[in-house]
Order: sequence, then C-alpha cells, then structure tokens
Amino acid sequence: MRILVTGGAGFLGSNLCKRLAKDPDNYIICLDNLQTGRMENIRELMGLPNFQFIEHDIVEPIDLAADQIYNAACPASPPAYQTDPVHTLKTSVFGMLNMLELARQNDAAVLQFSTSEVYGDAQVHPQPETYRGSVDPDGPRACYDEGKRAAETLCFDYHRRYGTKVKVARIFNTYGPGMDPHDGRVISNFVNQALRGEPITVYGDGKQTRSFCYVDDLLEGICRMMAAPGEVTGPVNLGNPGEFTMLELAEEVLRRTGSRSKLMFRPLPTDDPKQRRPDITLAKQLLDWEPKVPLGEGLARTIEYYRGLMGK
Ligand code: UDP
Repeated sequence: MRILVTGGAGFLGSNLCKRLAKDPDNYIICLDNLQTGRMENIRELMGLPNFQFIEHDIVEPIDLAADQIYNAACPASPPAYQTDPVHTLKTSVFGMLNMLELARQNDAAVLQFSTSEVYGDAQVHPQPETYRGSVDPDGPRACYDEGKRAAETLCFDYHRRYGTKVKVARIFNTYGPGMDPHDGRVISNFVNQALRGEPITVYGDGKQTRSFCYVDDLLEGICRMMAAPGEVTGPVNLGNPGEFTMLELAEEVLRRTGSRSKLMFRPLPTDDPKQRRPDITLAKQLLDWEPKVPLGEGLARTIEYYRGLMGK
C-alpha cells in the first residue's frame, strides 16, 4: 500500500506517518513544505526503508502513485495560518484540488483533515455534522475556515461528479507530543509558560470553552475512517466531548506541572469561538470510535514531551 501523507512533518501528519510506518507493508510518502512542519518530527523515520520525505508545497500540482492520500497539509494554529492568509487559503483550496486530481488519476481514496472551524463561532452546542456553521467570511479566521469549507465542497463535488473516493473528518482541537512549542495554541502556550515559570496568557476572560482530544485517540479515528466502507464519506466529527474553559485548563496545567506561574489576561482575538464541543454520535455509530485518553493523562504525556525538548 502506497500512502501519501501531506503535511507529514506537521503535528498530526508526523504522528500519522509514525503510526502507518509501523506496518512494513505500507510505503509512506511524506510531503511537507516545512512552513510549519518540522524535520525533527520525522527524524526517526528518515532512515526507514518504507518512508520517503519530499519537500513540496501542495499548492503546486505533483505527480506520483498512491493508493491512499491523507491530506493533512495546512497551518492550523491561528497565529500561523494568519501570517500568510492568502497562502493558507491556497493551501486548502489549490492543495485539495491537486490531491483530488491525484486521487482521481490513481483511483485512490483521499481523507481530508477538515476542522471544527467550519462551524465558526457556533450558535448550536454541541456541534453535530448537520450544523452549517457561523463563519464571518471577511474576518481574520476566514482564510482558514472558508478554505477548509471550500475544500469540503471540492471533496463532495469530486465524489458526486467523478466518483472519487473521499472521506472528510472534522477534527476538533487536538494536542500531544509533536506539537510545536512555539505554535501559539493554548496547550503548547500554557504548558511551556508553566514549565518556564512565565505568566500563563489567558485570552479574554478565560470562560470560552474547547474540547481537547489526545493525538493517539484522534489518529485511531482517522485510520478507522480511512478503513471504513466507501459510502462512509463523512463529514464525521472527531474530537473529545470533554469540555473545559481556558481557566480550567490553566488550573490543570499548573497543577500537573507544579508551576507557580500566575495568570496574565490578554485581549481576546477577533472572532474567537465562545464554546466548542463535538457531538460524536456519528463517529460512534459509523466507526465504533470514541476517545479514551482523559485530559489529565494526555496533558501529563504532553508535559513530558515539552520537558524533554527543554532538557528539563
Ligand atoms: N488561548 C488562550 N491563551 C493562549 C492561546 C490561546 O487563552 O495563549 C485561547 C484562545 O483565545 C481560544 C482557545 O484558547 O479561545 C483555544 O485557542 P487555540 O489557538 O489553541 O485554538 P482554536 O482557537 O483554533 O480553537
């Protein structure tokens, strides 16, 4: 099985490559333009006979043979995807087009790493797949949200028009080892700030909520989705329904790191969703999947990872 993973040096992509490369019958082709992906994420894979890295930006077409395509390429942290918003939009739209064309030519299945951001600042809670979302098309998050929405549209149009095998997973906030300590997202920020004894930067009043899924749980869901019958196209929500305020998260991080860092309140970014929690009824039904790792345990493993990076 030749498996293409775009964004394969990123947080989710590299963890997926490691999982897939364990099976010697798989040959993994990892594409990444290294915009936010990091070579150190795939260092342990580089010598393996069933792993190949190609530095490539999926905004540009590419011709190669693959049986399965996991399309995980796109900066995913708000500060990262807002740095070059036009390129972010191109990554989702042109990148998706290029991967769908590749899938069509190869008769391959393509699994799109979509996002809970398609729901925007959700007016329905928790969010089922049937909810159509509330996104400001002109706001600073739109380059990511609308790009991912358009990528979903492309998947279903290719499926209807050409019979392309598509699978769309809507991924909620995910964390764990491999996450760039400087990526600006809440868990990487809070843990690294706590470990360095620096102030914990809480945006807004900290009462906004998120639901955090440990990376191994998420990838189990992703792989089950790829293995599911062709009619399971999605969209399917994948995330952990445990919901926490950012203040609760900060407390848990302080407790688990034993840090004496103080909270520092910063302005809430524009269009920051107020609450987010996946309805995973469909994933349970179709994939017999639900997350297993509680936040405390996942945080402990993530703290260990960041401690290792700091040499502490
Ligand atoms: N956040 C925070 N402090 C930080 C980084 C993020 O309070 O240092 C908040 C942010 O405003 C948001 C939540 O944590 O409400 C999750 O942010 P993240 O960037 O991790 O993901 P997303 O907003 O894309 O869900």
